[in-house]
Amino acid sequence: MQLRFATGHTGEDYVRLRAWREASLARCPRHPNGGCGFARHGTYRRKSPPGAHVPRWYCRKAHQTFSLLPDCLAARLPGALLEIETVVRTVEQAQSLEAAADRLRPDIELPGAVRWTRRRVRAVHRALTALRGVLPEQFASCPLKLDAFAERLGVEVVLPELRAVAAEFLPQLPAPLGFRARARRGGERILGRQHPMGPDPPGPVR
Ligand SMILES: [Zn+2]
Repeated sequence: MQLRFATGHTGEDYVRLRAWREASLARCPRHPNGGCGFARHGTYRRKSPPGAHVPRWYCRKAHQTFSLLPDCLAARLPGALLEIETVVRTVEQAQSLEAAADRLRPDIELPGAVRWTRRRVRAVHRALTALRGVLPEQFASCPLKLDAFAERLGVEVVLPELRAVAAEFLPQLPAPLGFRARARRGGERILGRQHPMGPDPPGPVR
């Protein structure tokens, strides 16, 4: 399970300062009274940003891992939230998604660049749509654009800020903003697979 690590670090600073060492989780989220063998359980490495680690804890009684994802990093997508925000804003300002994709990923063929870009735009739009649902007074009237959400909050970089604004709703908001588990067709939840490294939280510890 992913939980929020509230931190103002940028992705760069998070890696440079090895800020995962500052993260702490005093009690087991499942057993606040203790007695469940809750303990720190190392870190897992993210592919991106390179050098980033995410700290985790393990509850022996529930056989459950808890990882603390810092506000600067995207959930279930590689990289920092700021990088994803840059992609979405580039699309918002471009003539077309194809034009933006061509500019964003000159290193790959256009169809791949379009898929890469569309995946991020769709994920962010799903998250913003869900956010409007849980915080209607603040955001229901916001157009589905990062510019509009940034303006509403009076900030320049909006996605990491939304982690704080929507902190209590993160378990029900989709990635890359929130920590909701991906649903399979039929609504069944997918458990994270065992990954030595990657954007996904690692699977249950055996
Ligand atoms: Zn526990």
